[in-house]
Amino acid sequence: MNAIKTEPERKQTARCPSCCKEGSAVKAATLRSLIGKERQGRITVNHYFFCGSHGCDIVYFTEDGSRAFYKEDLTVRVGVKESKAPRPICYCFNHTVEGIFDEIKQTGKSTVIDDITSRMKKDGCFCETKNPQGSCCLKTVKQIVKEALRQSGTEVNETVTGTGHNDRCRQE
Ligand SMILES: [Zn+2]
Repeated sequence: MNAIKTEPERKQTARCPSCCKEGSAVKAATLRSLIGKERQGRITVNHYFFCGSHGCDIVYFTEDGSRAFYKEDLTVRVGVKESKAPRPICYCFNHTVEGIFDEIKQTGKSTVIDDITSRMKKDGCFCETKNPQGSCCLKTVKQIVKEALRQSGTEVNETVTGTGHNDRCRQE
């Protein structure tokens, strides 16, 4: 009796109602595992968007921007939004922004990406339910490693892609 609805294709990005930057789609499963108990009842739709912009208090919002969850609604810290330690970045294997910077400061290199990739192969990863972003952390980790190497004076071949923070909300 289960009528399978053919849903229209989901939008992959939407603009955060607070900072106007593009957020990427996340499943309600991610919210269910990271939103505090007392706020679970406010998860009412199946698709949310994650705002990863630094300094913005909104973490999840609905496509039309009418409803949102804020940093304090989550049981974990969203590292990419914070300026102070600890800033978790890999939630499956517990790496932080500070850890990445420290290692590079001490040894001039980072083993984090190798650690994550090898442990992913061995243990699998749980990004959908552990990482607030709801997807693999590697892309973000790579950016941070690159930034940490750059700050430590180690040359990196690729330039760090622009922060693009002057992108205003555009009318449709
Ligand atoms: Zn935002």
